Amino acid sequence: MKKVMIISLILPFVILATSCNQSTCDRSSSTNQKLVSEVMTKEVQDATAPDKVLDDLMEGNDRYVKDSLTQRDFPAQVKATATGQYPKAVILGCIDSRVPVELVFDQGVGDLFVVRVAGNVEDKDVLGSIEYSMGVAGSKLLMVLGHESCGAVKSAVDKLDVGSENVTHLLDQIEPAILEVEGTRDSKNKEYLTEVIKTNVKMTIDDIRNRSSIIKQLEADGKIMIVGAYYDLHSGKVTLLK
Ligand SMILES: [Zn+2]
Repeated sequence: MKKVMIISLILPFVILATSCNQSTCDRSSSTNQKLVSEVMTKEVQDATAPDKVLDDLMEGNDRYVKDSLTQRDFPAQVKATATGQYPKAVILGCIDSRVPVELVFDQGVGDLFVVRVAGNVEDKDVLGSIEYSMGVAGSKLLMVLGHESCGAVKSAVDKLDVGSENVTHLLDQIEPAILEVEGTRDSKNKEYLTEVIKTNVKMTIDDIRNRSSIIKQLEADGKIMIVGAYYDLHSGKVTLLK
């Protein structure tokens, strides 16, 4: 009798522990599939046109939105990239924790150079990083990625002053985009804020072209492509800016 009672008490917990919802089951069964261990090689990098790299990133974002990320063998990719890297693209994005760049584009180890700075603005160090990525390491696409409700842009719009010359220096770089957009200067004005965020992306691209002869020449020669994009925090979707 005592034994029966113990079993009937334990059984529900056993069932609970071994059961899973549909998405968990899908995930665990997918780990039994062959994991992707291939990485970018020089041959693949050389042979891939800039517009194909863009297609690849946008398809990756589609998988991210649909929660069907590629299952990767990360230890194998780490090993395969230890002696060299041939990333397909460089992304200049914000530091925002809600925009995890490799995940957003479903990319693996060695696929992307990622430059992250609050408000995705450029300075000499950022320009040097982009020039290295494209001029030396052969990446084919530069994407400047802004995002919804960017805290850096909000702070610049509201003229945040925390008594730090470093923060002020950073926010000052967003000021030209603010001055470019008409409307009531208030970060709570969502339409205005979004327009400033998108304008900031476009002006960052203009500045990169104007301040880097290397990037400008690579683009003029058709060897690289530069695009601006906007990330929606609610959906995870990346939209290209015209
Ligand atoms: Zn941001």
